[in-house]
Amino acid sequence: MARSVKVAVIGAGVAGLAAARELQREGHTVVVFEKNNRVGGLWVYDPTSDSDPLSLDPTRDIVHSSLYLSLRTNLPRQLMGFLDYPFAKRESGDPRTFPGHDEVLRFLEEFAAEFGIHGLTRFETEVVKVEMNEKGKEWVVESRLTRGGESGDSVSREVFDAVVVCSGHFVEPRLGEVPGIEKWSGFQMHSHNYRVPQPFNHQVVILIGVGPSSSDIGRDIAPVAKEVHVATRLNSDSKGMKLKNCGNIWFHDMIKCVCEDGLVAFEDGFSVYADSIIHCTGYKYHHPFLETNGVVTIEDNRVGPLYKHVFPPALAPSLSFIGLTFKEAIFHVKELQSKWVARILSGKVLLPTEEEMMEDIRNFYQFMEENGLPKRYTHALRPFQVDYKDWLVAQIGLPPLEDWMEQMYSECFKNLVEMKENYRDEWDDNQWDAIIQTQSAK
Ligand code: FAD
Repeated sequence: MARSVKVAVIGAGVAGLAAARELQREGHTVVVFEKNNRVGGLWVYDPTSDSDPLSLDPTRDIVHSSLYLSLRTNLPRQLMGFLDYPFAKRESGDPRTFPGHDEVLRFLEEFAAEFGIHGLTRFETEVVKVEMNEKGKEWVVESRLTRGGESGDSVSREVFDAVVVCSGHFVEPRLGEVPGIEKWSGFQMHSHNYRVPQPFNHQVVILIGVGPSSSDIGRDIAPVAKEVHVATRLNSDSKGMKLKNCGNIWFHDMIKCVCEDGLVAFEDGFSVYADSIIHCTGYKYHHPFLETNGVVTIEDNRVGPLYKHVFPPALAPSLSFIGLTFKEAIFHVKELQSKWVARILSGKVLLPTEEEMMEDIRNFYQFMEENGLPKRYTHALRPFQVDYKDWLVAQIGLPPLEDWMEQMYSECFKNLVEMKENYRDEWDDNQWDAIIQTQSAK
């Protein structure tokens, strides 16, 4: 007989929406806690940003979203839908295959409306603490109202059988080490707080990092800035190179040091007086509300120990995490993880024993170590993405995902790594439509 439990879902971004839908479908009682006043998570653009541009001050006012105004998706919409609810083009919306961020938000709002998620959600309610009660079987979730941006003092407590953490992981910045930075006189920010290019008018701007945000922000700023210099460890071929269509973007080695007078010296011997440094150096996992007495830890960006990136064996199945994984078409992964969690909680699918799960995790960590993969890549799905998704669909009794999804993601990943400038607009929709149709017809 299927079991129905009372579940708290923390966050109403993509992960929380997927989790809420699957838990509800499985017959569980679901309460979604969302500190914002709407669904969508990171896809809710906010023109304001953290009160500390580097986001280091723990007492700063925090803005959840890292979106910049010009942001378009870095994956085609086919990879940003749900398996049974695609992110289709609509006449009234942004018809592009790589649409602007507001089109994604509209899609997520429609998804939430379609599946009745709004009715399950306590908006403007921030979870401040999650811990096991004395019985060691239930979770106490403490929350407070955040109405109007003000955190209320009164804390509500409620008991749940299970908690699914969907709070996102693009809020707490990671900064690179730059020798001399404490005395450097220019302006610094983390990409989390970048919104529009105008503050960088006529400036010499340094970007650290070469991920999707750095690539977008560089092109956003270049038309108004004097010069943009990107410090990168990757793509040795592109070092010293100027971007074709943005003649004022240069790529360099990492920064060797910076000086009090504003000079920035790169390891390739180039140096320049700069006005601003934008750290596009990624984020840290951060669950400030979660108290597990050290059962779940975060070490060098490894949240662990987690079985298949989702369940801490000692607290499974009542505590789970959706969406920690990256370097993959994450909408689909979050959906599959959500289906798995919902079925584990109802007892339709069983987990291995705690010891077996720990053994699996130890083997995985050992594999990473033997292959020189740093801890901070623990949740990066590449190169395990196909096995991981195949494993998840097998657990929940679905057929394997069609090959075009993996092929399409690989193509995008290649475009990003090769820093193709116009890959979004050069995307060949007809070619992909034909591939999808052929595979779907089989
Ligand atoms: P989020 O969207 O961050 O949602 C978390 C939710 O939890 C938020 O609503 C937040 O308010 C809420 N919350 C957090 N803490 C609490 C609390 N204590 N109490 C109550 N509520 C809480 N992915 C793609 O597939 N395509 C893209 O083009 C793409 N572009 C990206 C661009 C940028 C700049 C970044 C940073 C990421 C991008 N991503 C992209 C990845 C992105 O992470 C996912 O698309 C996805 O939106 C993340 O969903 P999530 O639900 O895990 O987290």
